[in-house]
Order: sequence, then C-alpha cells, then structure tokens
Amino acid sequence: MPRPKTPTVKAQPHVAIIGAGIAGITCARTLAQAGMRVTVFEKSRGCGGRMSTRRSPFGDFDHGAQYFTMRDPRFEAALATTAQTIKRWSANTVRVMDANGQVLATTGNPSDAHWVPVPGMNALVKAWAAPLQYGTLKGCNVVSQTRIVKLRQHGQQWALEAEVTDPSSGVTDTQTVGNFDHVVLAIPSAQAHALLASSNEKPDWQSRIADVLVDPCWTLMLAYPQANQPIGPHWNVARSIHHRVSWVARESSKPGRSTVERWTVQASPQWSQEHVNDAPDRVIAKLTKAFGEITGIRVTPSHAEVHRWLYAQTRRPLGQPFLSDSTRQLSVCGDWCLGNRVENGFVSGLELALALAQNQD
Ligand SMILES: Cc1cc2nc3c(=O)[nH]c(=O)nc-3n(C[C@H](O)[C@H](O)[C@H](O)COP(=O)(O)OP(=O)(O)OC[C@H]3O[C@@H](n4cnc5c(N)ncnc54)[C@H](O)[C@@H]3O)c2cc1C
Repeated sequence: MPRPKTPTVKAQPHVAIIGAGIAGITCARTLAQAGMRVTVFEKSRGCGGRMSTRRSPFGDFDHGAQYFTMRDPRFEAALATTAQTIKRWSANTVRVMDANGQVLATTGNPSDAHWVPVPGMNALVKAWAAPLQYGTLKGCNVVSQTRIVKLRQHGQQWALEAEVTDPSSGVTDTQTVGNFDHVVLAIPSAQAHALLASSNEKPDWQSRIADVLVDPCWTLMLAYPQANQPIGPHWNVARSIHHRVSWVARESSKPGRSTVERWTVQASPQWSQEHVNDAPDRVIAKLTKAFGEITGIRVTPSHAEVHRWLYAQTRRPLGQPFLSDSTRQLSVCGDWCLGNRVENGFVSGLELALALAQNQD
C-alpha cells in the first residue's frame, strides 16, 4: 500500500472538518486531543453519517451500517473509552440464503464478533462527538445543519461557503464561514470530488478520487407490531443470493432495542444500481416480495419505508488511508480510502489526524 505524503500544519491551527461520520469525528477528536482547534460542519441534524438510526412509531431501525467489527486494536482501545455505548449482537453466525428461503451455507467466525451501539447505530459517534460539541474540548465545536458547498483559499486561509438551515424555521441561508488553517473533507468520495471541483485551489491528487467506486443501496424497513412474538425464520440474520436482496436482519434481535418485530432489508448493489431512480412505492413492493421469498414472512407489514443511499459501500477503495496536500493545507479521509466498513472510516480519520498532529511546525 503506498504511504501517504506527510502533511504539515502550523502550530495551534484551526482545522475545519466537513462531515460528522465516524471518520470526521475520529479525526476531530484526535486533533483536539493533540491541542488543535477543530470545527466540524455537518449537513444533517445529528452526527453519525451512515452509522444512522431511523425513527418509526414501532421502534428504530439501523438503516445504514448494521453492525461493526473490532479487528484493529486501536479501534478496540477507542471503543473502550465509551464501553457503555456498545453491546455484542449475537449474530455472527450468518446464513447464506437462496431466493426460495433455503439455507445454502452458514458463515461467520465466532471470534469475529458483531457489535452494535445502543440504543441505536448513531449512538457511538454521538458519544464521541459530545466533548467537541458541548465544550469539554476547548475551542472545538460541531455545527450541524450546515452543508459546505464551496471552498475558497485566500492567502494561507480557507473560507467555506455554507448553506445553513435554521432548525426552528427550516429556512436555508447561504453564509461564508472562516478562517481556517486546514480543511479536511470526511465525506463520501463522490461528494469530496464535487467539493474539490468547487475550490479555487485544487490538489494534485484530486483525479485519484474519481477512481474510487461506491455502490448505492436501497434499504427497506418493515415493522410487524401485530405480532406478539418473533415471526418467520428461527435465524435473525442472513446474507442472500436473491438478485434483489443481499442482507436481511431482525432489527428487534439487537440488544437495547424495542422488541416490536422489525426487519431491515438491504437490496443488492446491482439491483440498487438498476433501480436507483425508481419511485419509493415501487421499491417497497419489489423488496417486500423478495423479503417474503427469503424469509417466508408474507404477512402485510404495518409499517414499510425505504431509504436510498446513493453512496453506501465501497467497491473499489483508494488504497491508502488518506490524501493530504501540505502546500494547500487540504486533506481527505473516509471509509472509501481503505474499504467499506465502519472500522475503515475510523482508521482513515485516525491516521490522517495522527499525521497532521505529528507534523505541526
Ligand atoms: C446500507 C449500508 C449498510 C452498511 N453496512 C455496514 C455494516 O454492516 N458494517 C460496517 O462496518 N459498515 C457498513 N456500512 C458502511 C459504514 O456505514 C461506513 O463505512 C461508515 O459509516 C462510513 O463513515 P464515514 O465517516 O467515512 O462517512 P459517512 O458516515 O458517510 O459520513 C460523512 C458525513 O458527511 C456529511 N456530509 C456530506 N457532505 C457534506 C457537506 N457538503 N457538508 C457537510 N456535511 C456533509 C454526511 O451527512 C455524513 O454525516 C454500511 C453502509 C450502508 C449505507
């Protein structure tokens, strides 16, 4: 794997991080712990990114990442600081199902446990962001409902053009925020590429980001509050070779969740790509039918909704943990640098922050 070019930043810089997913918040915390001022900008209401939780009248759904693994010892050490927010999910034996609900194989390494934050997937990043957000780490902040749309470098300083949504009125207003000594983009590769295209200063490595491939994913969420006990199969989790569906999981089998019977269904990358512009109602009908074929559950759900992820899981990563331009003071990180898992986002954000902290003037 090629080593990233060593970035340098001046002492006590003010760093802007765009994106409050696990990569951005890991990078922010590490820089703040090294004594830097950090402001994180996030377009959504809360932190977490694709480690997200969707509310429903029948309980929440982890409609992005389903679980995470703990293979990197640095991730394990970081998780130990907020140990109360994570629990082991007894789902690391995963069935492989065919399109007719037959088990083809059982996979899973018992030592490679599946972990989930409680009470929902977004709880981990929220917990890690809290010291930045609520002032424990001095000079740091997380600014939500603020989408960065343009980057401008004037001399040695960066100014960011932002669309800021007022939480009470919902009105969006364009503002310029600055001055920052360094800017980190911790957002999906396609969005990073588009934002860099808006910049008056472009790093040499910009075109490399365009080589990264990330698949879309339609996610279906189903609730069966009418069932007073688990329905359907005896298993809770399966990978599937059904052409429409790659993953089904009983959401209510996760620790710290509501026990109302709920399932999350992820469409296959290929089907998601072919149907990326379909109307949500059509996607719900097609995926619910496939779910019935895989699980045998043909009861009409009381609640069904879908979410479309345009950038879900990386198919072709960058192949190194981050990119950084020490002349322009501009860097990128995110899961897509290394792979398609939560841990890849963590490692990417961490390695960028350690490199920046080590190379202060
Ligand atoms: C359907 C699905 C299933 C998955 N399943 C698993 C799984 O089971 N296990 C696993 O380990 N991983 C899984 N993943 C992958 C995992 O979710 C990601 O690897 C990880 O969450 C990526 O973190 P990140 O910080 O790199 O990016 P993100 O989580 O995408 O964070 C980027 C953040 O930037 C914000 N943003 C974007 N543009 C702007 C802008 N212009 N201005 C301000 N903010 C902006 C976004 O709102 C977002 O909050 C799954 C992902 C999806 C979508």
